[in-house]
Amino acid sequence: LDILALSDPTVASMIDRELQRQRDHLELIASENFTSAAVLAAQGSVLTNKYAEGLPKKRYYGGCEFVDQVEQLAIDRVKQLFGANHANVQPHSGAQANFAVFLSLLKPGDTIMGMDLSHGGHLTHGSPVNVSGLWFKVVQYGVNPTTERLDFDLIRDIALKERPKLLICGYSAYPRIIEFEKFRAIADEIGAYLMADIAHIAGLVATGHHPSPISVCDVVTTTTHKTLRGPRGGLILTRDEELGKKFDKAVFPGSQGGPLEHVIAGKAVAFGEALKPEFKAYSGQVIANAKSLAQQLNQRGLKLVTDGTDNHLMLLDLRLINMTGKVGDQLLSGINITANKNTVPFDPASPFVTSGVRLGSPAMTTRGMKEAEFTEIGNIIADRLTNPENESIQQDCLNRVAKLCNNFPLYPHLKIPVPA
Ligand code: PLP
Repeated sequence: LDILALSDPTVASMIDRELQRQRDHLELIASENFTSAAVLAAQGSVLTNKYAEGLPKKRYYGGCEFVDQVEQLAIDRVKQLFGANHANVQPHSGAQANFAVFLSLLKPGDTIMGMDLSHGGHLTHGSPVNVSGLWFKVVQYGVNPTTERLDFDLIRDIALKERPKLLICGYSAYPRIIEFEKFRAIADEIGAYLMADIAHIAGLVATGHHPSPISVCDVVTTTTHKTLRGPRGGLILTRDEELGKKFDKAVFPGSQGGPLEHVIAGKAVAFGEALKPEFKAYSGQVIANAKSLAQQLNQRGLKLVTDGTDNHLMLLDLRLINMTGKVGDQLLSGINITANKNTVPFDPASPFVTSGVRLGSPAMTTRGMKEAEFTEIGNIIADRLTNPENESIQQDCLNRVAKLCNNFPLYPHLKIPVPA
């Protein structure tokens, strides 16, 4: 960072301010995390200079002997981590991983079936503004209106009627366990491919804190930067080696050019970390912390979708306190808590306004917080949301957030250079 401060102080100061923001705020965005300093170092390395189209030992460029080792290590580690037979570590993002799967298994006009975005699905699972919705016929399922959970009778009925070629499970805002075998049974009845997108829960799956889809689904995609705590990126896993070859081709040359070997090095480091017992303990703590937060919010009279959580995230339903997600999000921003407004199932409000706020525990668990701190976070959130007009409570919440952040420093070794 010192070199950057000398050569481009403008960019350096932007990065410094972002570091300070990350240090000073409670990061509760469920899809975010803080990578280790080792992952940061791998990403900021000379590997960014290297072109390496193709796969290890099958490249279109010379000089790949060391990036080959890096990429092969990432592949081997992630196969071990998830118990997969085949892995492609090149997708630049979760969206790219999903697109590569679609490109391998589908033709434009085929039918896909995924969860409605407003019920917790992801844009890439058939939203009309995404290529998945533009190129394919989309059938969507939602959660049960009473339980707010997956309703397999409903999902089966839709699947039998619409007979999608690809059935997608795995979500961005679903706080409960996903029963992959039940999806498998439905996919088998209609002869569909089954894909699990475990972007959110990958770290929990890798450590046995959530059932694994690897032996059940035809293909598993994920991001590497959420609960898995690696660099920003994507990944495709399968137990079927023949399908795996198709996915490889769909990533390159199908939809990407040269792989980001510096990011792949970051992935290798993160997978190595995730194989250690400390990461298993971390993932267990992520869930314990989310449960503490959910319990405290419940106790303070706030309503959560499905009344709680089994994983790292929860959805506050603010309709009971006559508040929109947009206002809730702004109130939390005003006390240095970063979260995001989110639709709740059957939301009457528009996606720009919404009735909910999504909260997650992975990032602050990385900073070392445990159940007691998450109980305090629940109290801070409840104090602020139930007293939106009260400025002295706002100030009190700001002080309590600052105290929590100071007690759990982020990247203490990273120094912000003083300008010359
Ligand atoms: N799939 C799911 C379930 C997600 O939640 C996300 C990101 O939030 C993605 C895919 C897309 O990942 P990316 O933003 O890396 O493209």
